[in-house]
Amino acid sequence: MTHDVFFSPAWLSKRDASDRSGSIIQKIRKIFQNAEFSQKISKGDLVCIKTNFGDPGNTYVIRPVVYRTIIEIIRKAGGTPFLAETTGHGYMNHKRSAAHYIDSATWHGLTIGSLRAPLIILDGFWGVDGVEIEIPNHNVLKKAWVARGLVGIDHVVSVSHFKGHSPYTRGQSIAASLKNLGIGCTTKTGKYMAHFDPPLIVIEEKCDGCKKCLSKCPVPSAINVSNGKAKINKEFCLLCGNCKSLCPLKAIEPSGKHSEELLQKFIVDLTKATLKVVGKENFTCLNSAYDIVTGCDCRSINSVPIVPNVGFILSKDPVAADRATLDLVNETSGIPGTEAEQLVCVAPGEEKFKTSRLFEFCEAAGLGSGEYKLIKAVPKETPPLRL
Ligand code: SF4
Ligand code: SF4
Repeated sequence: MTHDVFFSPAWLSKRDASDRSGSIIQKIRKIFQNAEFSQKISKGDLVCIKTNFGDPGNTYVIRPVVYRTIIEIIRKAGGTPFLAETTGHGYMNHKRSAAHYIDSATWHGLTIGSLRAPLIILDGFWGVDGVEIEIPNHNVLKKAWVARGLVGIDHVVSVSHFKGHSPYTRGQSIAASLKNLGIGCTTKTGKYMAHFDPPLIVIEEKCDGCKKCLSKCPVPSAINVSNGKAKINKEFCLLCGNCKSLCPLKAIEPSGKHSEELLQKFIVDLTKATLKVVGKENFTCLNSAYDIVTGCDCRSINSVPIVPNVGFILSKDPVAADRATLDLVNETSGIPGTEAEQLVCVAPGEEKFKTSRLFEFCEAAGLGSGEYKLIKAVPKETPPLRL
């Protein structure tokens, strides 16, 4: 099946420059108008803008102006918008609880005051509040744990910064709509399952019985210390990783770590579970192909972009959105003097990110198709730039 993909380029035409229709606000209004977004929203609908708030210190996260514009589009269509995220796995990062992550978002200017909409953590205070969802025709995961905050939501606007997954894997894999809806909409349990083999195990020779791992377990019966050694009860453990993060002796470890390719299979299955909860027809996926770096926004560090800004890409289908964005990025020249040189992708057409078999896995699981029709967004009734 071929899906429409709308594209609003980052570069300015003569007209864009002269009448300010090239403003980022107008670009977003234009692309939502072309996709007839407002017709999908009914009066009073709850509309979740799912994104990645990013780690404090990362300078390439999506700017507040993007969210604020979308929030105003949703309100104008009659919906009730809110900006949403899920916690991060473990307990040593800036997204370890709802309190930590909402506070982290303020470093990027994301507050209820600046956005005029609330910020919500979808998977509860400790990141383990999810609904168990069976995944038919799965790749690797029979069931997933989708953040409970998505239950009953009328429409999800997924807003994803298109970039690489990790600077350490040399441009391997992309992080955009599929990752936002898969890993980004699951609880800490799902995030663990995507990256590691269960269960978490205690390495007894390393454990000195200090009990530091007990203090932030969201399920008190899941871990205890007896005879001077920690023990995890597999039956109750939610794999949140808090105990692992807190152990000073690194005595708690996953049973195994997944390859990048296996991670992609998990992303596909988790995305299917998210679509099942909200309804496949109730998604709008916007990729922001600006500041295209090799590392994910969940790191507090970043290098420099490897290609110039490409623009905004929108589709109701996350597979088509990611495929089209990747193709547009690959067609663009890499920036000399950046990692694009080490990745040997400076020339237009050279592969900027390796997706290995991501799209093949999407099709195998019936998630969607990488076939799309690219439609350049044109001004419709975009009003003059007035705020
Ligand atoms: S025992 Fe399980 S549930 Fe408890 S902190 Fe560790 S990983 Fe989380
Ligand atoms: S924190 Fe580590 S060393 Fe201390 S009891 Fe727990 S597992 Fe053992």
